[in-house]
Amino acid sequence: METNNSLAIYGGDPVRNQYLPYGRQYLDDDDIQAVVNVLRGDYLTTGPAVESFEKGIADYVGAKYAVAFANGTAALHGACFAGGIGQGDEVITSPFTFAASANCVLYQGGKPVFADVHPETYNINPYFIEELITEKTKAIIPVDFAGLPSDLDAINSIAQKYNLIVIEDAAHALGSKYKGQSVGSISDMTMFSFHPVKLITTGEGGVITTNNEEYYQKLRQFRTHGITKELCLLNNCHGPWYYEMQSLGYNYRITDVQAALGSSQIKKLETFIQRRRDLAKAYTQAFADMNEIFYPREWPRAFSAWHLYVIRLKLERLAANRKEIFLALQKENIGVNVHYLPVYLHPYYQQLGYPKGLCPNAENIYEQVITLPLFPSMLNHDLYDVVQAVRKVIAYYRKKGDKECVTES
Ligand SMILES: *Cc1c(COP(=O)(O)O)cnc(C)c1O
Repeated sequence: METNNSLAIYGGDPVRNQYLPYGRQYLDDDDIQAVVNVLRGDYLTTGPAVESFEKGIADYVGAKYAVAFANGTAALHGACFAGGIGQGDEVITSPFTFAASANCVLYQGGKPVFADVHPETYNINPYFIEELITEKTKAIIPVDFAGLPSDLDAINSIAQKYNLIVIEDAAHALGSKYKGQSVGSISDMTMFSFHPVKLITTGEGGVITTNNEEYYQKLRQFRTHGITKELCLLNNCHGPWYYEMQSLGYNYRITDVQAALGSSQIKKLETFIQRRRDLAKAYTQAFADMNEIFYPREWPRAFSAWHLYVIRLKLERLAANRKEIFLALQKENIGVNVHYLPVYLHPYYQQLGYPKGLCPNAENIYEQVITLPLFPSMLNHDLYDVVQAVRKVIAYYRKKGDKECVTES
């Protein structure tokens, strides 16, 4: 049979027949067994599996405490509560992230303030943070985009200078390291997410790690309605049944079913990260000679867990925009994605009055990026298909007169 080599979007044969997603969970029989064991046991929620998962996460990242939540967004909300973010407080965060990194500030009545990102790391630029500090600033929420740790030394020194707390959104960065130290043990509080596309999964789930006992206690109360049983043991309470609500919390608990899955997943995390790193390296080698894309780098002090592999198109070298290239790749059956529309460009934030053009780097990057598939169970031939598809599509849209390959000097 003759193959038609034109782009699938113009009726040619796609590079592959089966759609390759951009990310997905990896579960094995041990994970399934761990869940079944809980289902056959006594506790479906607030049982021992939750504490044991929390201990597993705390030990893995080298933090004193971990408090697990129903999802990462709830965990961020808890961190804003524990950090004392309230009405009118300003919190500086990155625009180049999922909405939850800023929404958690709104939940507490605070105001997210967006500091633009670095044009090469896509992480918040500490220089811009300092410019935005006012008397109302209470906290910084840096986001470790794609798994690459933010510039934590610079961020922490700004935090110390102005007495701010740092809540690190490390939804992408479980297993990442900054100057050799695990993400999760560095900032005042760090959030990880366990959504199925993230580094490990519990279906839905999230956690805050911290070394601070006061935050730890507040997080635990917030997760369960602001209720405690502990103080009444010291006070003259009504009786052994007694509990009391001391603050306005939520029901943000994770179940034992989820926690058991999480504990089983932690055992595979090192293997997952190694596979992600190998795949990322293979992508980078495959794209090194392509003049039309800027591929993501790992920076000297930062070890990345590689949650995402995001390429950036050099549009001035291409006769198409990002949308056309994105659609062409999808038709080749490559599950590309885009991370992220700058948070303040969402209609809800626009209504709140954030102007367009607020963070030019983030807006520029948004116009140019495409996320390629990357997940631990991706096979070498899957990666090969993605590379073939990117080369095919880029070759088609390459501006006439530009050389196919230019070796970087
Ligand atoms: C996934 C994610 C979250 C939220 O986590 P959920 O568990 O989905 O609630 C927050 N921030 C970033 C950057 C994320 O990618």
